[in-house]
Parts: sequence; C-alpha cells; structure tokens
Amino acid sequence: MYKCGKCKLTILTDISTVGGIQCEKCGSKIFYKQRPNVKRVIKAR
Ligand SMILES: [Zn+2]
Repeated sequence: MYKCGKCKLTILTDISTVGGIQCEKCGSKIFYKQRPNVKRVIKAR
C-alpha cells in the first residue's frame, strides 16, 4: 500500500511493476510506503 506524498491519496496500484507510476489525482510521483500493521504501542514508565 502506498500513499501519495502530495495529496495523500492512497494508491492501490502495484507500484513496483512499472516504476513510473503517477498519482491518479495530482500526478505526483512521490509516494510513501505504508505497512498495515506497523502500529506500535509505546508504554511510558
Ligand atoms: Zn496525489
């Protein structure tokens, strides 16, 4: 799962296939990788 670095639209297309994908909304080519289960719970002591 990727998120557009500009408009933060979630990209569902497989980016790794072509390497030249653009955001459907704003045409940006900057994306952030998103992992579904990265949520970390930090306990303060
Ligand atoms: Zn975008």
